[in-house]
Amino acid sequence: MDRPNILDEGSSQRRQTVAPETESLFNVRNFAAAAHYAVERLAGMLSRDDVEGVHLQRPADLMASARSLMTPADLDGFDAARFADILELYLETCIKVNSRGYMGRQFSSVIPVTAVFEMVAAMAPQPASYYEAGQLANIADRLIEEVFGRFIGWPPASFEMVTTSGASLANMTAALVARNRYVSGSWNGGLAAGRSTRPAIAIGQDAHFSVSRIAGIIGIGQDQVIRLPLNGRRQICLERAAVTLDAAAAQGLDIFCLIASAGTTATGANDPLPELAALAKRCGAWLHVDAAHNGAFLVSDRLRPRLAGLELADSFCLDAHKALFLPALCTLLFYREKGLAETAFPQKDSYVFDPFEDEMTAVQSGVKNFECTKRPAILNLWLAWSLYGRRAFADKLEHLVMMTEAAHDYLADQPDFIVPYRPESNILCFVHRPLGVYGNRLSGLQLELRNRVRAGGRYLLSKVDLDGQTMLRIVLMNHRIGQIDIEGIVAEIRRHAREILENNATQREQNRPIRLQPQE
Ligand SMILES: *Cc1c(COP(=O)(O)O)cnc(C)c1O
Repeated sequence: MDRPNILDEGSSQRRQTVAPETESLFNVRNFAAAAHYAVERLAGMLSRDDVEGVHLQRPADLMASARSLMTPADLDGFDAARFADILELYLETCIKVNSRGYMGRQFSSVIPVTAVFEMVAAMAPQPASYYEAGQLANIADRLIEEVFGRFIGWPPASFEMVTTSGASLANMTAALVARNRYVSGSWNGGLAAGRSTRPAIAIGQDAHFSVSRIAGIIGIGQDQVIRLPLNGRRQICLERAAVTLDAAAAQGLDIFCLIASAGTTATGANDPLPELAALAKRCGAWLHVDAAHNGAFLVSDRLRPRLAGLELADSFCLDAHKALFLPALCTLLFYREKGLAETAFPQKDSYVFDPFEDEMTAVQSGVKNFECTKRPAILNLWLAWSLYGRRAFADKLEHLVMMTEAAHDYLADQPDFIVPYRPESNILCFVHRPLGVYGNRLSGLQLELRNRVRAGGRYLLSKVDLDGQTMLRIVLMNHRIGQIDIEGIVAEIRRHAREILENNATQREQNRPIRLQPQE
């Protein structure tokens, strides 16, 4: 062995030897050089005005490029050129959230200074679950809680907020609180403990997939998920929901939690919250609102009224990494009643939790969270709020919603487009219908259009299946998108549709199988 074993019971001299490779790994000058390079490169990217969506590569090709960048042996220094190549490959393959061509999903262009702070928080971490480790992170939780409490209209100190990594986790955590409260003894005894009815949850037809997953995860079972029918605006339909809930109860289901949406992922629809709060009360159920997308409306005086009734919910969550433009993930989960958050996980282990609460443990979030090591994502929100205040967030959000309404009006004026729902948010669904295309062929055409537009690399949009009809869907998350970009994507959709239909006509003439098939 040519290197001294540092675990040897040898001399203290030997034990203090650190391998040069380790020194190189933590070299400060290399860090500074890499950081400067990356910042310059990102600044360049942000200043460009290219219209691009995503550049999709075949997985095998990308695998080969990525593999070629992996060091073949242990290198003993920092290879700046390799770092630059890796950075390029990353930027090449990312979704272009800063471009006007990006209308695909709910990821936003992030407020740039928060990205800088992400790096700071990575280098000098404040894991957020325990006060000792994440002092400012836990304080920031309390300050942001206060700010949002005013928007919700809840009396100070009567409610509480925890942050989670994502709305999927927040929805599940809230459902656990509801389960522990209404399905008594379930934390220790499980769901079977002395029960004659089956615990069930009720959700809207358009609920996010993470919401129906909850039933599988917390032991309720998919068979006990009641799907509430929607009205013509894709909100939970009150009359039919009441009938569905009564029928479920008659079959021995005990609905302990109703989960509504404020901003469905598909269309951005808000469920009628005041009426659903009354319905939940009548059933003796907890009301959780998945406001992952539209919860951000709270910060805008103009948009907040669209969330009327949110203050009646027992809990709700909102994703600050969506319409508050922060790096992912940063989710705020609110409980109307203080003290409920810690009932999600009613267990205290001595190596992390002290037996008695003191002023420090009183503000920490560890007992209220599924996560143990937790990123202090709330600090990004606190930072941006401290630097810019409410108005900046509200302005961008209002602009996005206004642009989406304008896009709706523009498309509604086009004879070859169908726009079935007036947007309540910055999400818009539509169908391109060239003359003479109907039924399954129409759905097939939308899917093919999504694929071709995406492959073109200039625009990115998504598709959604609603009541058996495939639709195109755009989410406007970038404030630089203007009417010219909406016209641009429409022109591109028409051009692809013409090509597809001409191609099909030729194939039909030549008696080849028709390309547009009903969807899977
Ligand atoms: C995005 C979204 C989710 C999932 O949130 P994550 O933060 O990605 O876990 C849940 N519900 C709705 C309505 C959403 O828009």
